[in-house]
Amino acid sequence: MDEQEIIARYFGSHARQRKDVVLGIGDDAAITSLAPGHDLVTATDCLVEGTHFLPGCPARSVGHRALAVNLSDLAAMGAEPLWFTLALSLPSADERWLEQFSSGLLDLANGFRIALIGGDTVRGPLSASVTVLGQVPGGGGVRRGAASAGDGVWVTGTPGDAVAGRLAPEDLSGLPVENSPEEASTPAGRKAAVEYLRARFLYPAPRVQAGLALAGLASSMIDVSDGLHVDIQRLLGPRGAVLDAGALPLSPALRACRAGDAIRYALTGGDDYELCFTVPAGREPEVVGLRERLDVPLTRIGHVTDSSGVGWLLDGQNLEVPDAGFRHF
Ligand code: ADP
Ligand code: MG
Repeated sequence: MDEQEIIARYFGSHARQRKDVVLGIGDDAAITSLAPGHDLVTATDCLVEGTHFLPGCPARSVGHRALAVNLSDLAAMGAEPLWFTLALSLPSADERWLEQFSSGLLDLANGFRIALIGGDTVRGPLSASVTVLGQVPGGGGVRRGAASAGDGVWVTGTPGDAVAGRLAPEDLSGLPVENSPEEASTPAGRKAAVEYLRARFLYPAPRVQAGLALAGLASSMIDVSDGLHVDIQRLLGPRGAVLDAGALPLSPALRACRAGDAIRYALTGGDDYELCFTVPAGREPEVVGLRERLDVPLTRIGHVTDSSGVGWLLDGQNLEVPDAGFRHF
């Protein structure tokens, strides 16, 4: 298979037609039209074999994650994702791998009704770079570093699951994205809990709906990729926070499988792709109202302080948390 055949077979036939795609795959570049009065929001993330995923990682998961991590970045800006491009470097044209990679990628894209509008396909070490393009109403992007003292600090979902799933030894590839855990006291229950944790690592669910709902409400927002503790510091910039580790939303599966490590995983594990955000005190009831219509937990874990430094308490005692999130260099 040559480059043109790979594009045509696995990516060029991505049928999702959006009215705002003037020209999609097949020409020298794509043309799209942005809604009037909106700002363009762009994010790129590169997944490299050996750095971001291990050799032998299910290709479906690599395809899913390559797009999911970018959708998570757009969610953290409060943006609506619209289009994406894919730069793929492959050691060989492995049809089975391409089939699974493209279905992981395009199933997620179809779920959010976004269109693959172009890319590049080259021979080389295995890597996948995705760029997602989206929009916010003019001036409406939610940034880091804009929280005020007294704002509540909130998090979506249940951080810590992904690292537990990454470290789980069982080979449980090809699982559904969200697989709720059963009571983990029986062998079957434990297997279901481990499968749930593995799926949380292999198939993260980007919090796009939550990000959109929080635009205009959150004073600042970030997505948690390197670990909650380091990412909260990036979120707050010059400010600090007092946070309650006892308030952390831990999944039943994480509690069941890794009770002793659960809080440490939630604070320093990474790969969560949950949103962490701040909300002015007077508007926190609106976040509580959102819980009804979003299918993801929203949990308040503390508040922003004027002085720098992010401090964690557990049962009223100070909890030492290392700054060691995931570091690339
Ligand atoms: P060029 O030589 O001008 O870069 P290519 O032959 O690389 O053109 O690409 C032809 C068309 O296919 C372009 O529209 C390009 O955006 C698209 N394309 C190439 N690789 C991919 C891919 N992996 N996914 C989606 N579109 C792709
Ligand atoms: Mg090209």
